[in-house]
Amino acid sequence: MPENARFSCLTIEVGMKTNIIELKGISKYFHDHPILQDIDLEVKNREFLTILGPSGCGKTTLLRLISGFETPSSGTILMNGQDVSGLPPHLRHVNTVFQSYALFPHMDAFDNVAFGLRCQHVPKDEIKDRVFRVLKMVKLDNFANRKPHQLSGGQQQRIAIARAVVNKPLVLLLDEPLSSLDFRLRKTMQMELKQLQAELGITFILVTHDQEEALSTADRVVIMNHGWIEQVGTPREVYEEPQNLHVAQFVGEVNIFNTKVLKIDEQHLHVEIEGKEFTLKNTKKFTNEQKLYTLLRPEDLEVWGYNEVEDHENMYPATVEQVIYKGSTVDLILKLKTGTKISATQFFNEDDEKLDFRPGERVWVYWRLGWEVVLADEQ
Ligand code: ATP
Repeated sequence: MPENARFSCLTIEVGMKTNIIELKGISKYFHDHPILQDIDLEVKNREFLTILGPSGCGKTTLLRLISGFETPSSGTILMNGQDVSGLPPHLRHVNTVFQSYALFPHMDAFDNVAFGLRCQHVPKDEIKDRVFRVLKMVKLDNFANRKPHQLSGGQQQRIAIARAVVNKPLVLLLDEPLSSLDFRLRKTMQMELKQLQAELGITFILVTHDQEEALSTADRVVIMNHGWIEQVGTPREVYEEPQNLHVAQFVGEVNIFNTKVLKIDEQHLHVEIEGKEFTLKNTKKFTNEQKLYTLLRPEDLEVWGYNEVEDHENMYPATVEQVIYKGSTVDLILKLKTGTKISATQFFNEDDEKLDFRPGERVWVYWRLGWEVVLADEQ
């Protein structure tokens, strides 16, 4: 009896709303060192999930546990409702695309993609059909006879993706697949991956440490740090409603203000921020004992010329320190009277002449009350 015959293959009929993967209390240790700690995660069928986190936080290890190349130290992994402990990688209906394309250099694009199907003794005609179908999907059907060295980096990565999807996996794992591509190609490939995922109707799990890539590709984003999950949410939720300071800082740029509590009740926070008093909503039911911070994204701050406004209530006087022109926006580094430096992004608006700020210029800074996020220190 061949070794694999001991395992039954994963059932592959999957409903639209089923969780294709469920991680329950997953921990992983390498040499007694905790790498992943008590991970609970549900991945929905046909969703595009991105895992975002700093280098070394355990993203690749998590993918390797899902694909079956590592085994958890504790916890359970369910795929399509079945416990896959002990199920080897090739029976999990999961394929992985790596950052290094790992193509066979002596084979042309067609043979690279056909390799797995030939190993499974799929009939010749079916192989031809399936390979050309996926080459077409990745827009390389005219490059079938090219060897990897005759293809650009982006084209090689597309072949690697075609090779992974030709096996009709239930889940495609993508481990930083775009990180060696240049900025422009990366942007194009991000959109192509999204399109491909919709076309194939399968689950994609993409690992990245690029927050823009995570937000622009995902249906949901998982933010990891030090081996645990900090937050899972839609791109908008993790950006606009970060659960803690780490998520806020990791996903985009943010101004963080020390916030002195003057008075707290169930509904309101009476606070002092950079020398000004405000009444904010106490939506998270903070108490007097907590150290609070107020967070504002640079694009939430409005900047006005010194003589442009008459009513300065809720406005801070500031001095422009740096002006960074970015085409559709201008980023300003401003210094408040208290010495605190903040970042403000202004969008170009044809009707607003006041966008050519100069270093040294005095301005007023303002944010619409309610746009701030107040968080407590987790220490
Ligand atoms: P990156 O973004 O840099 O690829 P990552 O978030 O994917 O990082 P992992 O590759 O999962 O992180 O590694 C997490 C931690 O586990 C690291 O400290 C790494 O050194 C350690 N690690 C990974 N694989 C092993 C292994 N086989 N043996 C020992 N330690 C390992």
